[in-house]
Amino acid sequence: MNSLRLLILSTPVGPLGSGRGGGVELTVANLARVMRQRGHRVAIAAPAGSVLSGQPAARTDALDCQIEIIQVSGSCQPTAQTQNRSAPVIVGSALANAWAYARQAQANYDLLINFAYDWLPFYLTPFLTTPVAHFVSMGSLNDCLDEAIFQLSAQFPATLGAYTRSQADTFVSPTGTAPLRWQILGSAIDIAQYDYCDRPGDSLAWVGRISPEKGLTAAIAAAVAANRPLKIFGKLETTDYWQSIQQSLSATAAALITYCGFLPTPQLQQALGHCQALLVTPQWVEAFGIGVIEALACGVPVIAYRRGGPAEIVCHGKTGWLVEPGDRAGMVAAIAQIEQIDRYACRQQAETMYSLAAWGDRCEQWFNQIISGTIGS
Ligand code: UDP
Repeated sequence: MNSLRLLILSTPVGPLGSGRGGGVELTVANLARVMRQRGHRVAIAAPAGSVLSGQPAARTDALDCQIEIIQVSGSCQPTAQTQNRSAPVIVGSALANAWAYARQAQANYDLLINFAYDWLPFYLTPFLTTPVAHFVSMGSLNDCLDEAIFQLSAQFPATLGAYTRSQADTFVSPTGTAPLRWQILGSAIDIAQYDYCDRPGDSLAWVGRISPEKGLTAAIAAAVAANRPLKIFGKLETTDYWQSIQQSLSATAAALITYCGFLPTPQLQQALGHCQALLVTPQWVEAFGIGVIEALACGVPVIAYRRGGPAEIVCHGKTGWLVEPGDRAGMVAAIAQIEQIDRYACRQQAETMYSLAAWGDRCEQWFNQIISGTIGS
C-alpha cells in the first residue's frame, strides 16, 4: 500500500495537550501515531502551544518525534457546547489560520483530515484541490454547522466520519434532503499504555471536562447517596460551575469527593485503575466517551446512562451497568452490584474492540477510499 501524506487539522478550541478539546485531543494524537506506525507521513496543524503529551519518554522519542506539529497562531474557538445553536462566527482565529495553511500547503498532502467542529472546513472543502475527510466529534449542536454538513454531503457523500451511530443520528435531514452517509469509525487507545488492575480501592471515579453537559453533579449525587468516595479527574473547564458544585456540598458529601486535577495519561490510568467503577452521567448525547474505554482497559467497570456512545460501548451486566438517564436510584443500585462485574472481562473488551490496530484499519481504508474517489460509488 502506498505511503500517504496526511495533514490532520486538530480541534481549534485549544492546544493539543491542554485538555480543552476533551477526548478529541487523544483521538487526534492516536490517529497521528497509528498512521505514522503504518509508514504514512503525518503532520498536525494545531493551535500554538500544542504538544503530543502524556506518553512515556521512550515512546515520545520513537514515534511522536516523527510527527510534525505545525503550531498555528490566532485565538481559539469557544467550545460549541458552551454556545447556543446560532453562535456567531469568530474572526482572526486559529481555525481560519489553520485552513489558510491547508490551502497554501495542500499540494504537499494527499488528504486533509478535519477535526474542527465548525462550519468553516465544511464550507471550504469544495474550494480545495486536496480531498478532505471530516471527523465530526460531537452530535448536532449548531444550526450553521448542520447546514454546512448537509450541503457538503450532497457533493462529497461519505466523507463524513462519526464516532458512533447514536452521535450520527442526532443530525436530522431537513425535509427533501438525502440522509447523511456516515462512516462510523469508533475510537481506540493504545492498550499497552494502560495497566490492568484487579485489586481496586473503594473509590468510584468520574473522568471528563468539568462542564455542565458532562453531568458531574449527577455522579456526585449518586456517589453521595451510595455513601462511596468519588475521585474526579479532568480539565476544569467551567469554573463557575465547579464553584457552585462545591458550595452546594454538605460536609458529609464534601468528605467523599476528591478533585484529582487533569492528569497526563500515564498518571490518569494509574489512578483510574485503582477505582471500583467509572460513573458516566452526561446531560447530552455523548458522542463516544474515550474515558469509558480507558477505564475498561484498566479493568474498571463502567456505570453509564443508557444513551449515546457509552451505551454502545458498555455491555450491560458484563462490563458494567446501564441505567436510564437521570435515574439516581438506578445508579445507586448499580454501584451496589459492581462486584458482580468481572474486571478482567472489562480489560478483554478493551483489547478486542478498542485496539489501535483495528481502528487504524478502519480509518486507513476510509482515507484510501476518499483519496481514490471510490467512496461515493
Ligand atoms: N483526561 C485526561 N486527564 C484527566 C481526565 C481526562 O487526559 O485527568 C482525558 C481523557 O483521557 C479523555 C478526555 O480527557 O481523552 C475526555 O474525553 P471524553 O471522550 O471522555 O469526553 P469529552 O471531554 O470529549 O466530552
